[in-house]
Amino acid sequence: MNKPNQKKMKVVCTGCDREHPLGTLGRCSDCDGILRCQYPDEAIQSLRDIQPGPGIDRYRELFPVSTGLPFLGEGNTPLIKSRRIGPSIGLENLYLKYEGTNPSGAFKDRSGALVAALALDAGASGILTASSGNAAAAMSAYSAVAGMKCLILMEPDSPPAKLRQSLATGAEVLPVEGIFSRGPKAIGDLILQVSESLNYYPAFVWAPVNPYTLEGIKTLSYEIVAQLGESPDVIVCPVGGGDMFTAQWRGYQEMIQAGLIEDPPRMVGVQSTSAPPLLKAFLNHDDTVKTLPAADSKISGINVPFTGEHALQVVKESQGSVAGVRDELVFQMQERVAVEEGLWIEPVSAVPVTALADLLDSGTITSKDKVVCIMSGAGFKDDKLAREKAATVAGDEPVPFDVEAILGQIKKT
Ligand SMILES: [Zn+2]
Repeated sequence: MNKPNQKKMKVVCTGCDREHPLGTLGRCSDCDGILRCQYPDEAIQSLRDIQPGPGIDRYRELFPVSTGLPFLGEGNTPLIKSRRIGPSIGLENLYLKYEGTNPSGAFKDRSGALVAALALDAGASGILTASSGNAAAAMSAYSAVAGMKCLILMEPDSPPAKLRQSLATGAEVLPVEGIFSRGPKAIGDLILQVSESLNYYPAFVWAPVNPYTLEGIKTLSYEIVAQLGESPDVIVCPVGGGDMFTAQWRGYQEMIQAGLIEDPPRMVGVQSTSAPPLLKAFLNHDDTVKTLPAADSKISGINVPFTGEHALQVVKESQGSVAGVRDELVFQMQERVAVEEGLWIEPVSAVPVTALADLLDSGTITSKDKVVCIMSGAGFKDDKLAREKAATVAGDEPVPFDVEAILGQIKKT
């Protein structure tokens, strides 16, 4: 199983360039490198003729599938120019790529739509993933679209809203003790073994385990260039395992090859200082990313002790950088984005915006740069902020139906 029946595409190792059979999962058997998809030039050139719009199936030539992708409303998310936060910190051209309008409320739907096609291509009878929440919700929704069963191995501390969302769309959810704390090899082996036993497609959105699921996410870059009318100067993006970060870079590389843009953006990854594997590798000038003994961030989505070395490669190739932010400042920024920009985002989406002031101070970005922050998901995914605010209202007595009484209550808080 697990054979993406792609036309002329190749699967090659990023470490030793060895070509592997289509559908190979896991890492290179020769050098342990991460595998990646490589498309023929005519597929890359097709990018020149594709107009942006609903769904990502229009980019089918640049995906590792032979069938079309199902449509549930994914992609075509808004790029919003910051009205207050950008100007307040001295950024004239700050844009927010808001992924919360995807059907399950997060960027993982770009992988979910692709996984539905990959699973059908592979003749799988179901879809399996391991997740802290957003991939779970996406895979559950797109399994329903594909008419397949879905099994989620979930982080027990995942935000309850993400768990409920996955259950609502029909997944079987198994909380698994310490699923992300035993190291990347252990979780990869677990996913591949369980999925093989069940004939389920292993839809883990992490290239060292599944080199294909991130291909859907590169459509973020196609959309941003179409929306801006040019390539941005800088992308600032939260980084957990590193697939969203790496996928976008591949999108820019393909657009360069197609002659759509000349210069790609500098890629700036941001991690919590409580879960900083990529940040540590960057600061130490390491060639690899070491797995940390533990991750202790409160930010769902990036609280992982390992990042793939593909993300470090992107930092180097793009002449980018890596920044760290403290959890408490991220929660403050989440509230600022909500009340100053009108976007109720999940905490991880506030991570890149939180880093901007320091990036300006250090000269990593300049006030004239066109900067795009990737906001990966909607606020309802992790609704702690809203629940805390609601708790301040819930116990109040209703105000009498009376103008004076209403006006008398307004400044109470
Ligand atoms: Zn290799």
